[in-house]
Amino acid sequence: MKWMEDELALLAGASLERSLRDTVPVPGRAGYAVRGERRLLNLSSNDYLGLSQHPAILEAIRQSLPAEGGGAGASRLVTGNRSPYSRLEEALAAWQNREAALVFANGYMANCGVIQAVVGRGDAVFSDRLNHASIVDGIVLSRAEHARYRHNDMEHLRQLLHKHRDKRRKLIVTDAVFSMDGDRAPLRELVELKREYGANLMVDEAHSGGIYGERGEGLCSELGLGDEVDIHMGTFSKSFGVYGAYVCGSRTLIRWLVNKARPLIYSTALPPSILAGISTALELVQTERWRRDKLVASCLLFRSSLSAAGFHVGHGDSPIVPVIIGDNDRALRFSEALEENGIAAVAIRPPTVPDGTARIRFSLSADHSEAELTDAVSVICRLGLEFGVLNR
Ligand code: PMP
Repeated sequence: MKWMEDELALLAGASLERSLRDTVPVPGRAGYAVRGERRLLNLSSNDYLGLSQHPAILEAIRQSLPAEGGGAGASRLVTGNRSPYSRLEEALAAWQNREAALVFANGYMANCGVIQAVVGRGDAVFSDRLNHASIVDGIVLSRAEHARYRHNDMEHLRQLLHKHRDKRRKLIVTDAVFSMDGDRAPLRELVELKREYGANLMVDEAHSGGIYGERGEGLCSELGLGDEVDIHMGTFSKSFGVYGAYVCGSRTLIRWLVNKARPLIYSTALPPSILAGISTALELVQTERWRRDKLVASCLLFRSSLSAAGFHVGHGDSPIVPVIIGDNDRALRFSEALEENGIAAVAIRPPTVPDGTARIRFSLSADHSEAELTDAVSVICRLGLEFGVLNR
């Protein structure tokens, strides 16, 4: 395995090697984490609503353990389909106002499973260039043709739809909010194009579920497009503060997935205690509206403060605030300096983002107070000047 060492040395030389680091949670404070000796303001978590430390969720998980045990012991299609699944799926379908829902083990498996189940050889998937890796991997697994369009470029998408108009099935897939840029997909235009070309539309609400919409249903619902989206996917690992994922749509879609989605069929069901946690989180997402309101105010404060200081923070309004640095090594050193100053904000480098766009991806939580974020902005500005990310 000498070749691995050689390749790893190359990665390290380009400031592209990744490593695993212990991160310890702070009980009761979802917006903090401990690394080494330091307690850090966690600006790198997707726990947007701060639910991962919610006492009601922890209690639901705890209470279900004695009756349900530690693990499900089998796939959902064998004997792993415990009763909390059907209750949760009914609640999810009602929340999203769709006919049916299906829970997956996580978002990665949901995306891989859905795409691989609905398209195959002879079909085409039209996918935004900045879509999440799990969508890309689902397309590869499906063996359908991968037609990548430039980020949010509807003219490019139209050209590709035209080029592939004779394909057997056509699926357009997009993140609703892009995971590394925090901006929105043009969902209305996507719906128009899918209608025009007879395609299906799949939307990944991983970073918008729980945040947008009257009851946290996501961006599609906020825009009144719920019925137009054929496949609605989201995760429980971000705003919900737990783990797992869901797909909502027609009864036919869900029946199809139960029969064809390999990650659902060939993998053990989620631990039942996690389902109990998710069910409680689903109620809290809908009832504790103050979390969404506080988060929205924090996003505005944080983004506008950094932007006023001269940082380029992209075009979003979501809790994901990218500060593009470009150079991998500088991004890494900037992130290390942030940590030395009490802020956990990880450098995101290629291949997660395109070459030359290494960045700090800040992400906010409803657990952060205004004072904490204002202090963080001061630190980021001071270090921004020091590292030449901000011009004097
Ligand atoms: N979709 C998007 C847009 C994501 O950002 C992620 C996770 N980063 C996933 C899917 C995968 O979700 P999970 O973490 O639940 O596997």
